[in-house]
Amino acid sequence: MKIILLGPPGAGKGTQAKVMAEKLQLPHISTGDLLRGNVKSQTPLGQEAKDFMDKGMLVPDELVNKMLIERFGSDDVKKGFILDGYPRNINQAKALDEILKDKKMEIDDVLYLDTSDSIIIQRISGRLVCSNCGANFHVKNMPPKVEMVCDHCGGNLYQRSDDNEETIRKRLNVYKNEVSSLIEYYKQAGKLSRIPADDEAEIVLNKIIKLIHTHNDSSKV
Ligand code: AMP
Repeated sequence: MKIILLGPPGAGKGTQAKVMAEKLQLPHISTGDLLRGNVKSQTPLGQEAKDFMDKGMLVPDELVNKMLIERFGSDDVKKGFILDGYPRNINQAKALDEILKDKKMEIDDVLYLDTSDSIIIQRISGRLVCSNCGANFHVKNMPPKVEMVCDHCGGNLYQRSDDNEETIRKRLNVYKNEVSSLIEYYKQAGKLSRIPADDEAEIVLNKIIKLIHTHNDSSKV
């Protein structure tokens, strides 16, 4: 299965993708995680990307596309993948089509996690991320058992530097400028399904699993 999770920052793409990847035994490919890994290791890509990320702007397509092509060079994507945070604009959607065409692959489903702004701000401003395994927590909605310690691996939790209200609003604006054309692109291709995603993570996950298992064409919008 080749799945794209589309949705604003804070829609729960990362949370859902991690669980889906485990359930479906597929790699979870998050361009945000890949970029943060590069920033942490201070690679040339990370050094170029950091400023854009801190400002809530998109990292230039050229850099992200190159990073994705490298990731798609690994064997594990042959069985399928859950793509999270990519594509972010039409240019990237077309680049992805090319990458997949080269590999004789095609996207099966684009799941659009539709979330309201107030929920997004509330989710992101309380989000905590594990510095070791990348698991997401929330100070109120999904607190870790031990303060600032990951339930899964014992790693330290931190708040992302771009998870502050000012940057969140910028990221939301960037997202809104690009998303309608992306939605149209995948709608035209008959691949888009809209998932209402204001509910708790488990409820949203059940909707997703039901949809991808039934491949119910009537859910395509
Ligand atoms: P995310 O973890 O998906 O919220 O991404 C965090 C930040 O990484 C974004 O605000 C962008 O600066 C950058 N980023 C992640 N994915 C992409 C992408 N596909 N294209 C450009 N920038 C991206």
